[in-house]
Amino acid sequence: MSLYEELMKANEHYAASFDRSSLTAPPARKLAVVVCMDARLTVEEFLGLRTGDAHIIRNAGGVVTEDALRSLIISHKLLGTREFLVINHTDCGMLTFKDEDLRRRLAEETGADASELEFHAFDDLEANVRAQVQKIKDSPFIADDVVVRGLIYDVKTGRLREVA
Ligand SMILES: [Zn+2]
Repeated sequence: MSLYEELMKANEHYAASFDRSSLTAPPARKLAVVVCMDARLTVEEFLGLRTGDAHIIRNAGGVVTEDALRSLIISHKLLGTREFLVINHTDCGMLTFKDEDLRRRLAEETGADASELEFHAFDDLEANVRAQVQKIKDSPFIADDVVVRGLIYDVKTGRLREVA
């Protein structure tokens, strides 16, 4: 069975006992999380969240990009979230390369101009978390009383710690 076939079979199984049809779109716990896409992070599990509780916005690094901010503004203004978390993690792939190296590699491999691409790689985990939190706080489109916290998830222990 191909991966795709396995996934579709899993979905059939899921839909057969589906019981979440009464959920509404606004997150029940008024929470939004920006978090790295790393496959080792099962966000709902490590935060004790259930379907319908929170918006989970994932990308490489857990970076508050223009698009992540777009999602947060919609989350907050249209769907009522009041509390945000930014979560980065130990052993993140974003610590292992530099934007300019990836740009050069892409240009070499494809011949296309990669000079405008931003990957948001970083070399200091804590500083990166603080910078992402600050980007949210600096946005005029997120109310000042929205609570924004930055955390680091440890892939060896499963534990979260807040970045001061
Ligand atoms: Zn990561």
